[in-house]
Amino acid sequence: MGTVPTASGTLFMDITARCLVKKKALAGVNGAFSQRFAETISACGKEVDTIDVEWGKAIKPEMVREQLSSGEYDTVLVCHNETSTGVRNPIYKIGEMIQKEFPEVVYVIDSVSAMGGDLVEPEKIHSDLIFASTQKAYALPPGLAIGFASEKALKRCEEVPNRGRYTDLLGLYTYYKKKQQTPSTPNVTLLYALSYQLDKMLEETAKGRYDRHVEMATWTQGWANKHFEMFPEKGYESLTVSTIKNTLGNSIGDLNKELAKRHFMISNGYGKQLKEKTFRIGHMGDWTLPDVKEVCNHIEEIWEL
Ligand SMILES: *Cc1c(COP(=O)(O)O)cnc(C)c1O
Repeated sequence: MGTVPTASGTLFMDITARCLVKKKALAGVNGAFSQRFAETISACGKEVDTIDVEWGKAIKPEMVREQLSSGEYDTVLVCHNETSTGVRNPIYKIGEMIQKEFPEVVYVIDSVSAMGGDLVEPEKIHSDLIFASTQKAYALPPGLAIGFASEKALKRCEEVPNRGRYTDLLGLYTYYKKKQQTPSTPNVTLLYALSYQLDKMLEETAKGRYDRHVEMATWTQGWANKHFEMFPEKGYESLTVSTIKNTLGNSIGDLNKELAKRHFMISNGYGKQLKEKTFRIGHMGDWTLPDVKEVCNHIEEIWEL
């Protein structure tokens, strides 16, 4: 079932902690957002262990399997697209392994910066909850979160007490089923915007959208490898944001000042660890290959590459 609460994507981290984690979760951590997810679980008073992977590297199915075999965990958390490092974790392969070997475990995916661009098929992923925000690859203003929950997730909710009100996933679902409404006032204006954008997305088709993102990502990776070096482990590069090593050591802050004069902007590396050491070029939502080429052309001119 799909649900669209009035919130940003982070609400689903709280929902996971309050409604799905019974006792202890296992979180794959390879960047700032997956770290936030793990911290949210403990902030809500539930236990969480982490699989800590070097930033820039991916979470692999065998790492998750090794931890799950201890039998301690009822929920697994993975970030689809680590926006901080530009790493795309293999969520389909991890899902297949969990479904086959640990069918009682609930599998939750933060797809905030991927869904709407990268391909997300909850049934094929075997995810129990996968969520996004409207302001990333859906190319809408912020203010709505979008989640898809499985029957298994809703059953799990029944076993978990103190789910709160705004965070009650089962409440969202039952209210909608009974009344086709939300349990609290929704952001109606944005729902109209979402409806408009979803029509456009359906017209483009999921495959068309995915192919367009693959095209932008592949071109950007080629450009990055020609002038610099990609930051993520090879084969695990994001389709929606390219994180590039600043091998020339030029100032990213200054670059953005120059780009702003040309009405463009890129992102500095995320957090203390990656700031100025990397930079990120977003290519998601309604962007197309000519847009990406244009911003990269400006960078070439400014840095005289
Ligand atoms: C942006 C982002 C978030 C936070 O989403 P909000 O909509 O700001 O709550 C979480 N995870 C990832 C991977 C993100 O890129």
